[in-house]
Amino acid sequence: MVLQELGSKINGALSKLNTASVVDEAAVDSVLKEIAGALLMSDVNVRTVAEMRTNIKREVMQDSIRAGSTSKAKQIRNAVFNELVRLLSPDVDAYRPVKGKANVFMFVGLQGSGKTTSIAKFANYWARKGWKTAMVCCDTFRAGALDQMKQNAIKLRIPYFGNPLEADPVKLAEEGTKHFRDEGYEIILVDTSGRHQQEAELFEEMEQVMDVVEPDEVIFVMDSTIGQAVADQASAFKKSVPVGSVIITKLDGHAKGGGALSAVAATNAPITFIGTGEHFDEMERFDARSFVSRLMGLGDMRGFMEKLADSKALEKSPEMMERLQKGQFTLRDLRDQFKTILNMGSLGQLVSMIPGLSQMMQGQDPTAAQKNIEGFMNCFDSMTEDELDGIYRTRIPDPKLPGKYTYVYEKQISESRLRRIAKGAGVPLQRLYLLIQQHKQFEGMVGKLGKKGLMNDQRMQQQ
Ligand code: GDP
Repeated sequence: MVLQELGSKINGALSKLNTASVVDEAAVDSVLKEIAGALLMSDVNVRTVAEMRTNIKREVMQDSIRAGSTSKAKQIRNAVFNELVRLLSPDVDAYRPVKGKANVFMFVGLQGSGKTTSIAKFANYWARKGWKTAMVCCDTFRAGALDQMKQNAIKLRIPYFGNPLEADPVKLAEEGTKHFRDEGYEIILVDTSGRHQQEAELFEEMEQVMDVVEPDEVIFVMDSTIGQAVADQASAFKKSVPVGSVIITKLDGHAKGGGALSAVAATNAPITFIGTGEHFDEMERFDARSFVSRLMGLGDMRGFMEKLADSKALEKSPEMMERLQKGQFTLRDLRDQFKTILNMGSLGQLVSMIPGLSQMMQGQDPTAAQKNIEGFMNCFDSMTEDELDGIYRTRIPDPKLPGKYTYVYEKQISESRLRRIAKGAGVPLQRLYLLIQQHKQFEGMVGKLGKKGLMNDQRMQQQ
């Protein structure tokens, strides 16, 4: 998972408070020092860390140390959570495209930052949602840029504009956007040239391109692997063009993503997507609360539900849709969703979205994580059809009719059945408890969302 090490270090520091007999100011200081160290190791900017540390301390020390150590740890955890979310949430919103009109996005960033790849992912994202999408290549600097876009365009079946004989990026930008505006395209993505370094020439060219394409949003693409340097880079771009939002690339499995995250503060522009791999579908919508939640091993049910909506599994299963609309979510539904997400090839994503699971799997290699998920699947297999459908009953001799049987209905699977299921699945009982607990949480959430929240959520449909 993204920045997993940071999450486990923060949790490690906090868990020390749980075992401390007295939580005084010195104990709080020592935990905060450890957390600050972890943030710095992940390349979060020194000033940002100092600021966060002061804020957390202020928030935590407002209450006297009266509270027990467990609740103090919880308080600090909450304060850390809030500070990380604040760090990642500037006050401004990203541009929201408007249906039925041309929405032009201009992508800027250094060469190799992942612009062309991100454009293809971004195009794929909108096209899949039914928006008429096209790409324009005016990167005349990098040999092969047009070819790369062309290959992506063919794979995605999305039109593109470029001309290998034209050397003037401004001309290409103007012609390309005009062409697609005239054709009624709704999402027009403009790829600009990058350079190896920030050079006056690059910025000048960017400004000229901007003048002719009149973008609705300038998206700054930054490579998370370059660490701290990204903050300076972000500020330089921001000075030259009005960066409206940020896409952070290559966050897959990289521990030093903190620099990129704190660079958001430098641009004061929201992160909209993060790149988590080279494939077109390896880009996730960024939500600060979900991200920090996952980072701290608290799970991300919203992300899970979004994945579910995105997988189109619901459209294929009208019965499930009907149940969800009534606020029902059975163990069978949970099993099917696990399967869907696994089929999409995102084991890491699935793990990070489930509260408790990521902590349990920290430090494990992916094969062990895979085994744990398989253990869950075996648990589902050991359940009866009734249990999967939420009918929990035990067969007992009928007291009124000797020799016959009757059923006792229960609200949850009985302890003896749980033991049987765990044994049948070959997993420790604790693991099955975790699965049942997860199911309860999802059930509770679906119950709350019902049809209105889940299916009619405008944000989910449009974003
Ligand atoms: P550009 O010069 O800014 O257009 O960069 P490219 O889009 O050509 O990307 C540079 C390299 O980074 C390519 O090899 C991409 O496959 C790779 N890349 C881009 N985004 C990601 C990402 O999110 N994760 C990983 N692992 N690689 C990425």
